[in-house]
Amino acid sequence: MLNGAKRWIGNAEIADVLIIWARDEEDGSIGAFVVEDPRNTPGLEMSNIGGKIGKRAVWNADITLTNVRIPVENRLAKPRSFRDAGKVLILGRVGVAWEAAGIASAAAEMAIAYARQRQQFGRSIASFQLIQHKLVEMATEVSLMQMLCLQVTNLIAQGALTEGLASMAKYNNARKARYVTQLARETMGGNGLLIENHVARLMMDAEVVYTYEGSNEINLLILGRELTGISAFT
Ligand SMILES: Cc1cc2nc3c(=O)[nH]c(=O)nc-3n(C[C@H](O)[C@H](O)[C@H](O)COP(=O)(O)OP(=O)(O)OC[C@H]3O[C@@H](n4cnc5c(N)ncnc54)[C@H](O)[C@@H]3O)c2cc1C
Repeated sequence: MLNGAKRWIGNAEIADVLIIWARDEEDGSIGAFVVEDPRNTPGLEMSNIGGKIGKRAVWNADITLTNVRIPVENRLAKPRSFRDAGKVLILGRVGVAWEAAGIASAAAEMAIAYARQRQQFGRSIASFQLIQHKLVEMATEVSLMQMLCLQVTNLIAQGALTEGLASMAKYNNARKARYVTQLARETMGGNGLLIENHVARLMMDAEVVYTYEGSNEINLLILGRELTGISAFT
C-alpha cells in the first residue's frame, strides 16, 4: 500500500502511468512502484498547481496517496536504495543543464538580433559599448554552458560521470541561465518586459530550472560532498 504526498509532479494528471518512489516501512529500502491507470486508482488524488510563473506549458500536480493498493509485481525489480533513485537524478540533472543552456542561448540570440535593429539616438544600440558588454557576456556564458554540457555528456558515454559533476553542470548552468536571461531582458529595455517578445518568458523558465531537479543549494552540497568527502547536508 502506498501512502504519502508528492508536489510539483510534471504532467502527472495526463500520464497513463506513474512511477512513485517510496520507502518500504518494513525493511527501510527505497523502491519504485508503477501505478497503472492513475486517474482511476482508488486513494490516488491529483490536482493541478495553477499560477506557475514559468514553464507554463508543463502541468504540475499535487498528488496524495491514501492506502493505494498496487500488485506486488508492480515494484521495479532493481531500485532498492536512495542511491538507486539518485542514478535517475544524475541523468536528469545533465538534461536540465542542457535545458538551461538552451534557454540562455535562445535569450542571447534574441538580444543580439534586437540590439542590431533597435535604433536610439540615431544609431543601433548594438553600437554602444555598454550594450556590447552585455552581448559579449551572454555569448561567452552560453558557450561555456554548452561546453560543460558536452563534457558531462561525453563522460556519460565513457561511463565516468560522477554525481558531483552532474550537479556541477546543473549548478553552473541554472545560475548562468538566470544571469543571461536577465542580461537579454535588460538589453531589450521596456520591450524585454513584454511577453510577446519571449525573453521575459525565458527569464521565468530559468527560475523554474533553478529550483527543480535538485535546487541549486542541494546541487552545491552534493558537489561539496564529492570534493571534500564530507557531507554538509543537515
Ligand atoms: C516546476 C517544477 C517542476 C517539478 N517537477 C517535479 C517532478 O516532475 N517530479 C518530482 O519529483 N519533483 C518535481 N519538482 C519538485 C522539485 O524537485 C522541488 O521543488 C525541489 O526539490 C525543491 O523542493 P521544495 O520546492 O519543497 O523546496 P524546499 O525543500 O522547501 O526548499 C526551499 C529552499 O530551501 C533550500 N533547502 C532545502 N533543504 C536544504 C538543505 N538541507 N540545505 C540547504 N538548503 C536547503 C532549497 O534549496 C530552497 O532554496 C518540481 C518542481 C517545480 C518547481
